[in-house]
Amino acid sequence: MTLHIHTPLIESRPLSLSTARSIWLKLEALQPCGSFKLRGVGHACQTHHARGARHFVSSSGGNAGLAVAYAGRQLGVPVTVVVPETTTEHAKQLLRLEDARVVVRGSSWQEANAHAQTLLGPEDAFIHPFDDPLLWTGHASMIDEVAATGMKPDALVLSVGGGGLLSGVVEGLRRNGWTDVPVLAVETHGAASLHAAMAAGHSVELPGITSVATSLGAKRVADQALACSREHPLYSHVVSDREALQACERLLRDHRLLVEPACGAALALLERPEVLAPYRQVLVIVCGGATATLEQIRAWREQA
Ligand SMILES: *Cc1c(COP(=O)(O)O)cnc(C)c1O
Repeated sequence: MTLHIHTPLIESRPLSLSTARSIWLKLEALQPCGSFKLRGVGHACQTHHARGARHFVSSSGGNAGLAVAYAGRQLGVPVTVVVPETTTEHAKQLLRLEDARVVVRGSSWQEANAHAQTLLGPEDAFIHPFDDPLLWTGHASMIDEVAATGMKPDALVLSVGGGGLLSGVVEGLRRNGWTDVPVLAVETHGAASLHAAMAAGHSVELPGITSVATSLGAKRVADQALACSREHPLYSHVVSDREALQACERLLRDHRLLVEPACGAALALLERPEVLAPYRQVLVIVCGGATATLEQIRAWREQA
């Protein structure tokens, strides 16, 4: 039994027509807690539960925290999520809907995370948002589902925050023998930590995050993400917040799905014909995002 669901894989007629190739969408936005995170987080939580964990702790006020809260409720394990004061009321409400205990501590994620570490007892499991092999193995299941349909893409587009999704997708491509399928990894300006690390040739820490795509806001990517860029065909692309927001509005219009700018970033690459030119069939991971609202996307768009 898994906590995530099998998601639909659809060929987008509007996006295929406008790009003059086949655009396939893996609809991770339809996971019960709104993002792909449930695949990895669900696998990690089930593994820790089987090993005797009696309490899950997270320090993410975003989709990772929501996935932990959902997984904990499903498994009957209490969940504490420590978030900084900057977390929106909306995000805290979503966590409480999943019965998580929400603790507000500190003015930054670093402070909230430091407090979360002090809460950990011997029967508790800390669930990291992106840097854990258990997460990657869970995320890889989305590629198993694509392979099972018989459709093999010529390229795969996804967004990168801390690189957990990237690491999991590359694991999935490998275990299905698809080591020749290139990954187009997309970040937004102001959150482009993989792009910076690949340019430097080693892990680097961004001074800060300035993008509205908050779910991409890891100042440093997991070492595994950088390893993927060396061991698998991978191209890094950076889009603007405005492009990511426009892509969110377009997906809503074309497919009636509302996603976060973090997900819009990947979709925004479809507006770059020169990037898509070599590929006939392109698969986009529509990673989702539960904290998006139409009002927020429109307000950001006016600022951008
Ligand atoms: C977490 C998340 C990302 C980035 O995933 P990483 O594993 O941190 O790279 C992108 N989009 C959404 C909606 C997310 O929740």
